[in-house]
Amino acid sequence: MVDYLLSFGWITSESVKRAFLEVDRKYFIPKNFQSDAYSDNAYPIGSGQTISAPSVIAHMLEKLYLNGGMNVLEIGTGSGYNTALISSIVGKKGKVVTVERIKELSSLAENNIKNSGLDAGNIELAVGDGTEGYFESSPYDRVIVTGGIPYIKKEMPLVKQMKEDGILVAPVGERFYQNINVFFKKDGRIVKTLPVLFVPIIGKYGFSEK
Ligand code: SAM
Repeated sequence: MVDYLLSFGWITSESVKRAFLEVDRKYFIPKNFQSDAYSDNAYPIGSGQTISAPSVIAHMLEKLYLNGGMNVLEIGTGSGYNTALISSIVGKKGKVVTVERIKELSSLAENNIKNSGLDAGNIELAVGDGTEGYFESSPYDRVIVTGGIPYIKKEMPLVKQMKEDGILVAPVGERFYQNINVFFKKDGRIVKTLPVLFVPIIGKYGFSEK
């Protein structure tokens, strides 16, 4: 799985690669999908929710530019897989707070993390509406939203609870169609960046030369 993510460019940094090697996805995949634990697919985890595809998770983690010691807020714990990966990257001096709306999934994630054997001392699990953020452990260096959200605005608690120069990554858009967006907090405002920048295709059905 890691070779696949590297070869397709989903993993580009050493820190994200190390986390994917440390955290075994099989502990976060339901029993009936175990044979597909390392496939690049999303799977149902109960309560109508899914564990995201590894490529999507890797892409979002790369855009977060995580470092050891950072304080991270995750919205949408789900299976706890992404939480475990963040925990592995930020290390003992860092912290990840993860908020899940569905109590059963938060408990599932807690069990999954425990079974995976990861040292979970830097993980705090909370149940509630993550769009309200989690004030108690703020301010955050990074915020990651793991489900589709209609917009990100500077008035939102998620942004207010983020440090200046912090980065927020979220799939933003319609209920069933989103793009992964990256936001920076600058002077209390939120600046959206394009996650990727391509050179133009020049041609009859592409861009004109000038
Ligand atoms: N990151 C997870 C993983 O690795 O398994 C997958 C997350 S899943 C795609 C999105 C999660 O967001 C679901 O578990 C869902 O219950 C949760 N969710 C939806 N609305 C929420 C809210 N307002 N606050 C917190 N969690 C929410």
